[in-house]
Amino acid sequence: VWNRCLAVIRDIIPEQSFNTWFEPIVPLRLNGKILTIQVPSEFFYEWLEENFVHALRRALDTAIGREGQLEYSIIVDKGNEQNRPLTVNMPTTKTPQSAKPDNVSPDILKSPFQLKDLDSLTLDSYLNPVYTFDNYIEGDCNRLARSAGYAVAERPGVTSFNPLMIYGGVGLGKTHLVQAIGNYIKNNSQNKFVLYVTSEKFTNQFLNAVRTDGIRDFTSFYMQVDVLVIDDVQFLQKKEKTQEIFFHIFNHLHQSGKQIIMTSDRAPRALDGLEDRLLSRFKWGLSADLQTPDLETRIAIIQKKLQAEGIYIEDAVIEYLAHSVNTNVRELEGVIVSLIAQASLNRRDIDLELAKNTLRNIVEDSEREVTIDSVQEAVADYFGVTVADLKAKSRKRELVHPRQVAMYLAKEKTDLSLKSIGYHFGGRDHSTVIHAVQTISDLVAKPSETRNAVEKLKALFK
Ligand code: ADP
Ligand code: MG
Repeated sequence: VWNRCLAVIRDIIPEQSFNTWFEPIVPLRLNGKILTIQVPSEFFYEWLEENFVHALRRALDTAIGREGQLEYSIIVDKGNEQNRPLTVNMPTTKTPQSAKPDNVSPDILKSPFQLKDLDSLTLDSYLNPVYTFDNYIEGDCNRLARSAGYAVAERPGVTSFNPLMIYGGVGLGKTHLVQAIGNYIKNNSQNKFVLYVTSEKFTNQFLNAVRTDGIRDFTSFYMQVDVLVIDDVQFLQKKEKTQEIFFHIFNHLHQSGKQIIMTSDRAPRALDGLEDRLLSRFKWGLSADLQTPDLETRIAIIQKKLQAEGIYIEDAVIEYLAHSVNTNVRELEGVIVSLIAQASLNRRDIDLELAKNTLRNIVEDSEREVTIDSVQEAVADYFGVTVADLKAKSRKRELVHPRQVAMYLAKEKTDLSLKSIGYHFGGRDHSTVIHAVQTISDLVAKPSETRNAVEKLKALFK
């Protein structure tokens, strides 16, 4: 059965991924419709689940049928459970050590795997398709960075812009630009594996790999990437071990002509807390900065944003906004979102008066404290329930969701402790609040109705 699965998988994922991720798997048993496979580490299991779930599902469908289920048995090497001093080595072989039976702990059986909502059959790039060059407005503030980015997008790994480092302050469009590069490459050279990762996620994956003895898997995963986009590298400051492994991955990719794209909130020379040898690598390519957008660019950004939302407003209003908000693009977008929210809540058009009021409110509100009452009122109003509903004992679905959103916003927008937030919601305890905050954070993390709701509501408290 497993051989039949492999045949299916081999057809739908790149050969190198297949060798790295599927060769080392040992089929253990088939129990009715449940196939158990043994994987070399926790990290391995996580990557399979994160990246190959569709391929696995397809394979099970073919080999066992729709009811086919998969269980993972993860090897825990007893001798290595204690923290072993870390040695970062370039992997000498692609195949993780084969499992010795005496290393196998009583099977840790993971829950049967579930089809996750992934849209690709193969490796996920973690790129957000909304970020493109098309909707990235060009201006004096970003001309060099944008054109360097475009050159890299057209010929990844070939130009002298390797690595490409984009730096600049918060909200100036670093993430948007590097994701646009990634999306461009992904769409135009389908055989290239593009991977977007924040430095924070990279660090966490690495620490997790250290903990679960999966460094080899971690490294070989990153070494099969064709285009690595790594966001906010300033996060690696003072993280020596993470820098060390990044250094090895960087070298390997660079030597193999793979493209590396990075962002940072400051110029490379100002990145103290990064090892010199890493910094000197950064200088091999090109660093380009993003500046605060000028008036003309701000106007163009507002127009583009409104166009995307299908909203028309007069030029005079656009100019007023562009003049008034001159910090960064994120701020500008925030103002537009509040304005749209105000207009739709008050059922009126966006005109100069509304724009002025909204901006004034934004300024005043940022000075005014947000109270739990105002959060509850706004949420109740938004969802068409009453404040009493939010505090009631009822656990009807229609009430649970608004209640959780309200708790989440209370946590974000007031200084109240979890305990007192619970108290204001009919005397619930703090673990209920934690659960609510977690649930809503997860929903807000990806495009969803909840995210829209939370953005609109937050705009009211700005
Ligand atoms: P950073 O990563 O530098 O903090 P982001 O890339 O997240 O900034 O940009 C913040 C917001 O501003 C995003 O929604 C992005 O789409 C938008 N943005 C930034 N620069 C531009 C631009 N030149 N044209 C259009 N939108 C932009
Ligand atoms: Mg960013």
